[in-house]
Amino acid sequence: VRIRAAQRILDLQDEIIAARESLREQATHDTLTGLLNRPAIIDTLQRALDYAQREGSSVGVIMADLDHFKQVNDSYGHKAGDTVLREAARRMRSVLRTYDSLGRYGGEEFLMVLPGCDDEGAFALAERVRCCLSDAPLELGGGSVKLTVSLGVTVVDGSERQTADSTIYAADEALYGAKARGRDRVEVARTEPAAAGTD
Ligand code: GH3
Ligand code: MG
Ligand code: MG
Repeated sequence: VRIRAAQRILDLQDEIIAARESLREQATHDTLTGLLNRPAIIDTLQRALDYAQREGSSVGVIMADLDHFKQVNDSYGHKAGDTVLREAARRMRSVLRTYDSLGRYGGEEFLMVLPGCDDEGAFALAERVRCCLSDAPLELGGGSVKLTVSLGVTVVDGSERQTADSTIYAADEALYGAKARGRDRVEVARTEPAAAGTD
């Protein structure tokens, strides 16, 4: 009887651990794509920036936004749009390194955090992400969709004190430039000299 009671306690403990894991997964991941959700990827970025500052290393950050995605919904329906978002996320994840993080920042916007990445490496990764979408159309039940993505890149040097917000802002500005210059392209943020000049 005592052994059976002890076994019940152990089983309950396992259930509690599994429930806690499941809650943690739900709190940090996007249900549609399975990627990190917005708060989780921002948190990941902040940690990467803190680490880079301590170690004197760099962090590459890419903001990606699918081009003319509204047209996919308008032409094929919202459900097909969801399928396209899932496939786009899968392709992006497949070209990143295992220690890079990818999150769904908003509807059709994705944020990538690349620890230890310099300008060249971050640009090269952004190009790989761009090509992994444009190279082959995405298959849907009723046809295939050609999809492109625009990307904004910024690299934070370990010597700079940057917040997640300011870094995202820089990547967003570069993304805006990529959209303005015709989409399906990568733009790198211009680095402003820290605290330059007087006012
Ligand atoms: P641009 O090239 O300027 O980025 O154009 P766009 O059409 O991609 O941008 P816009 O912001 O006009 O539209 C984004 C669309 O993404 C509109 C919205 O309905 C769609 N969207 C956002 N989240 C989801 C989602 O979870 N599922 C589906 N199917 N569509 C979504
Ligand atoms: Mg958008
Ligand atoms: Mg878009």
